[in-house]
Amino acid sequence: EESRRDNKYAGPARTRDGRHIEVAANIRNADESGLALQYGAEGIGLFRTEFLFMNREFPPGEEEQFHVYREVVAAFRDKPVVVRTLDIGGDKDLLYLNSSQEENPFLGLRGIRLCLAQQELFKTQLKALLRAACYGNLKIMFPMVTTLEEIRQAKKIMAAARMELEAGGLTISHVETGIMIEVPAAALMADVLAREVDFFSIGTNDLAQYTLAVDRGNERVAGMYDACHPAVLRLIDMTVTAAHRYGKWVGLCGELGSEIQAAPLLVGLGLDEISMSPVFIPPMKEAINKIAYHEARELVRRLLELPGPQEVRAALSK
Ligand code: PEP
Ligand code: MG
Repeated sequence: EESRRDNKYAGPARTRDGRHIEVAANIRNADESGLALQYGAEGIGLFRTEFLFMNREFPPGEEEQFHVYREVVAAFRDKPVVVRTLDIGGDKDLLYLNSSQEENPFLGLRGIRLCLAQQELFKTQLKALLRAACYGNLKIMFPMVTTLEEIRQAKKIMAAARMELEAGGLTISHVETGIMIEVPAAALMADVLAREVDFFSIGTNDLAQYTLAVDRGNERVAGMYDACHPAVLRLIDMTVTAAHRYGKWVGLCGELGSEIQAAPLLVGLGLDEISMSPVFIPPMKEAINKIAYHEARELVRRLLELPGPQEVRAALSK
């Protein structure tokens, strides 16, 4: 039964006119990587590592993290595993970081900002990741990037982590480095940022929140929160165009990537990879296989001109 399911879901997603789109999985821990493989994931597009740091008194050390990352990377063999560095702040708090209460935590010391302020914590994670990279196809991704300077600083700390490991006698392979595009400023500056990284992954959950100025967890404004808003779609379109102009690949790992109805939109935007909860992988592959890329591109050109998310969703349901 198990292996039959493997076979059924294992093939790649390809549009009718032959464009391959990598369908990958979002995971929170090593246990979920088995599930991702069962459902036919062609890789991990987002490993949310902050869950390893939550609900405990001290952060996990280098050795503990290394074992977790190695397990996932080794299970996926030559398939890509994109590991996102610690994304704490906003709604996710860590007691041991004695992060002081902020009035607007989503606009505060969050994601890469917190890591650049806690360099030892960050470097420990990077060392564990660089070591694990020797066991498969690991890529490192920084969350909540807003400026070019943040990327440069993060890479500097990564270089220091590499030097410390190599001074200890280890040989570390080259590791691709990318960023999440989830802040509108990063999408608008994507052509500048693209030169500094190997890939982008678009986080539509936060990109929608920050673009529409709507708290993603607030019931009172939930009716205004929709990643299908043309304002968000235009930012995604800009990001994809900028990435491709510089020969970089671009994925999407927000919840929009789990919406089967949105498949023609995701394909037509020109994404190279879509990452989602494992259960959505089989139906998403099936949907992609029915789409013609050139038709989806024309559809998206029209969707970008629509006034709001309702019109976009109506056009998608046709
Ligand atoms: C996102 O913001 O879309 C994303 C994938 O990251 P998270 O949901 O973990 O903030
Ligand atoms: Mg996010």
